[in-house]
Amino acid sequence: MAMKAFDYFKPKDISEAMALKADKKESFFLAGGTDLFVKMKNGALTAQTVIDIGELDSLGGIHEDEREMIIGAACKVSEIEKSDHIRGKYAALAGAAHSLGSLQVRNLATIGGNICNASPSADLLPALLVLNAKMEIIGPRGIRLVPAEEFFVGPGATILERGELLKSIRIPLLSREKAATVYLKHTLKRSMDIAAVGVAILVEDKEVVNNCRIALGAVGPTPFRVYEAEKHLLDKKLNGEVIAQAALLCKEACKPIDDVRTTAAYRKTIVEVLAKRGLEKIAGEQGGRLDGASH
Ligand SMILES: Cc1cc2nc3c(=O)[nH]c(=O)nc-3n(C[C@H](O)[C@H](O)[C@H](O)COP(=O)(O)OP(=O)(O)OC[C@H]3O[C@@H](n4cnc5c(N)ncnc54)[C@H](O)[C@@H]3O)c2cc1C
Repeated sequence: MAMKAFDYFKPKDISEAMALKADKKESFFLAGGTDLFVKMKNGALTAQTVIDIGELDSLGGIHEDEREMIIGAACKVSEIEKSDHIRGKYAALAGAAHSLGSLQVRNLATIGGNICNASPSADLLPALLVLNAKMEIIGPRGIRLVPAEEFFVGPGATILERGELLKSIRIPLLSREKAATVYLKHTLKRSMDIAAVGVAILVEDKEVVNNCRIALGAVGPTPFRVYEAEKHLLDKKLNGEVIAQAALLCKEACKPIDDVRTTAAYRKTIVEVLAKRGLEKIAGEQGGRLDGASH
């Protein structure tokens, strides 16, 4: 199917982007275009106007202050994957970025696009949930900060209101010594496939767990935390029995659907396998070092 013609604007700053969004009917922000153009091409979405925010300086970059790491919404997935800082401290996010699409896709795709497209299988979302990320949103009524967990409301649906733009993603600082994070992804094809299941885990103080967050992707309408499993792990040492029970709780907590790609039963089994594998990986790490992520 050929893509319908559309107007293209490249604003010089956020204010101009917001003004265009308010002014133009059926307008969409364009970051990397790896979701937007696919939808426009296959007719899932009609845009009369596309507002290119992908190269706005104020939406780019990765930096840290004394409280949090701030990632600009237009930061490329490949920048996140390659950032030494993110690889060292927020390995689940670096790993999730590395697992997304191909190098060519990652060089175009942005973190903001992955978030705002809100696919249930989007790789960065479970990692952002366990990192307690907050979304900085700018809109006609000012700026608001929304926890990642409250941002997603259904497949492809977020709390973003008309005219609002995701400006940055704010992640509280983690202790490099105490915290370990991991993202594990199961795909049905060997290369470049979206997640059939994604599992992100954060554990602080694995000797006696004093904080733990687990989030699942692709097994519900939105990514979600598994509070039952997190509660089970609190104040315990990560041994085989504790890990097996937590993994079972993850399996029981998810209600995936059968779809063209695979069955609900298969996804549930994989959730248990990945949760167990992720916790074992963290338990096996030396001295609380943060771990990378793998498929
Ligand atoms: C071949 C291929 C393979 C892929 N593989 C994967 C994969 O393995 N895992 C995965 O998770 N995804 C995958 N994707 C999907 C896609 O690459 C990601 O979701 C990507 O992060 C989207 O970012 P983008 O910058 O291209 O978004 P765009 O396509 O530019 O935008 C996506 C949506 O978000 C909106 N938007 C973008 N930025 C903002 C903002 N700052 N504020 C408000 N709204 C905004 C746009 O208006 C649009 O509706 C794949 C895509 C392709 C084409």
